[in-house]
Amino acid sequence: MQDKRIIKILQENVDFKLIAPNFENDKIGASYLFVSADEILAQSFLELCLQKFYCKNLKDDMPCLECENCIKIKNRTHLDVVYFGKGESLIKKEEIKYLLESAITKPFESEHKFLIIEKGENLSEITQNLLLKTIEDLPSFVTVIIFTKSISKILPTIKSRCQTYILKPLPKQSLIALLGSTEKSLHMVDVSDGILSKAIQYHEASNVFEDRYKFGISMLNAFSSSADMLKYVAYLNKNKEHLKDIFEIVQGVFYQALKGKIACTTDEKALAKIVRLCNDCCDLMEKNILTNIVIDKFLLGVLKIKLNRS
Ligand SMILES: [Zn+2]
Repeated sequence: MQDKRIIKILQENVDFKLIAPNFENDKIGASYLFVSADEILAQSFLELCLQKFYCKNLKDDMPCLECENCIKIKNRTHLDVVYFGKGESLIKKEEIKYLLESAITKPFESEHKFLIIEKGENLSEITQNLLLKTIEDLPSFVTVIIFTKSISKILPTIKSRCQTYILKPLPKQSLIALLGSTEKSLHMVDVSDGILSKAIQYHEASNVFEDRYKFGISMLNAFSSSADMLKYVAYLNKNKEHLKDIFEIVQGVFYQALKGKIACTTDEKALAKIVRLCNDCCDLMEKNILTNIVIDKFLLGVLKIKLNRS
């Protein structure tokens, strides 16, 4: 995906301004580590940096997005940009061995090649140690880029050999520029809290988002006694395929309340506890715990905190 508006946001982004100058033939480094929990931001970032590197027709130091090379990067068909570790499972040794072989073969259609590990959090200690040997001694025509959601999963020995950049969440104004400033859009901007992937996900199904946002507001301001339980259980049961998404939005609502952006009568301490509870319930969903158990834990938890009995 390469939406013109996203590109505009990136071009004005402070992190992009810091990193993009590296992406020139005589300035490119041997290995980079990019840290971001925002998958779409990270992908868009990389795409634009690579386009800047290979573009045949730079305009004001920015890629034209239209030349043969820019299009190849966008379509992931450039022979000198190779992606590894796309899946959700641990990256296999064989894949890293293939990367090691790629690192010593010359580029095919340019002077420089990029080997990119998309989900560095899926590297085990063993595969990182394998990788380490390569990045210690890379030929000058190769750059290795590792993306990771979580820097804690990367060995210190790898970190010390990479130029590390932590991509910050986007400023609110950038997301408003992308989604608009209607009341609904502002809700999405608030709840996504600077995460581009979330903002786009909400925007693509805005009615679903608004429904869940209203549920979050109701949890915040109306849910106050066990007599209300049935209604809330029914809503969550009806949407049990999407509990994690709902918990994330409810968390966003309570977090905004905690920051004073949404009016409510619940005190700060309780709001903070509920934000953590939403987070815990998201984790439980990832662990495939029975939905009924998570729904009970969530609703009873919120109620207890609100009634100050936790
Ligand atoms: Zn171009």
